Amino acid sequence: MTQGIPHFAVVGNPVGHSRSPAIHQEFGRQLGLALRYETLLAPVDGFAETIRGFFDNGGAGLNVTLPFKEEAFALADHLSERARLAGAVNTLWMRDGNLHGCNTDGVGLLDDIQRLGAPPRDKRILLVGAGGAAKGVIYPLLEAGCSALRIVNRSAERAHQLCEQVRALLPQHAARISAGSLDEAQGQWDIVVNATSSSLSRQAPPLPGAGYSPGSLAYDMFYAAQPTAFMQQALAQGAGQAADGLGMLVAQAAASFAIWHGRRPDTAPVLQILRRQLDA
Ligand code: NDP
Repeated sequence: MTQGIPHFAVVGNPVGHSRSPAIHQEFGRQLGLALRYETLLAPVDGFAETIRGFFDNGGAGLNVTLPFKEEAFALADHLSERARLAGAVNTLWMRDGNLHGCNTDGVGLLDDIQRLGAPPRDKRILLVGAGGAAKGVIYPLLEAGCSALRIVNRSAERAHQLCEQVRALLPQHAARISAGSLDEAQGQWDIVVNATSSSLSRQAPPLPGAGYSPGSLAYDMFYAAQPTAFMQQALAQGAGQAADGLGMLVAQAAASFAIWHGRRPDTAPVLQILRRQLDA
């Protein structure tokens, strides 16, 4: 390890495709902070050993990606409120010999939809998907004051389970949250978030009955050089604007960076660089 330069990594499997090293190096350059940030491949059955080895060797912080976010949650000695409510951790660091975990995915989404001019306050939000990414964004969206949050999922059972978990953890928000199948997305929505991995197979989740209010935002957490199938479907069905999840990726990285370095980078120039790289 280079003496004195703090060492960070994103740990996952697979992880070679991750854009986190490029994002964090750009943040460091912007703020004049020297840092090393790499990818770290962990065996599927060897996550705990991998992260122990990383921190034993003086590592300063880790981002966690698929499929380890729930394992990171289970291993952390101290969890932030966001991590506890998400049931998943994407940011780890060591303090006084204790492993700390936070989840910045939700605030990443929140930052990005605010950047797009769609703050969630008083908005009706349809959240499509009930996997790890959906779980991470529910609490920040409710806290941000949306008027209704409906979770719909291919497996309706999973959406109902998630809804019940949130109601139990956040009884003060119980009246604003509901769940159903993809066929039960009826309504006029101000924000529709695609938190499914359907875009990986170039498909849009079928959402019969889901309507877009004037000026609404359709947001796909997936990102790609071309508008995703979900974004195209949403615009054809009347969404005011459609965006992909590249801005969320940069914003969640900025929140992790702020935890580790105590300074918040400007996401706009880094998002521009990444978009150019993706389009190239
Ligand atoms: P999970 O595997 O935990 O969950 C997958 C979800 O997608 C489930 O709700 C699943 O439904 C649903 N799904 C999968 N295929 C289809 C399909 N063909 N039609 C309808 N629903 C489908 O994945 P994650 O929650 O971790 O990730 C979801 C997406 O979010 C991915 O595209 C990922 O890249 C993106 N993401 C983006 C981030 C960013 O920073 N931009 C951060 C984190 C994630 P079922 O339960 O029925 O199987």
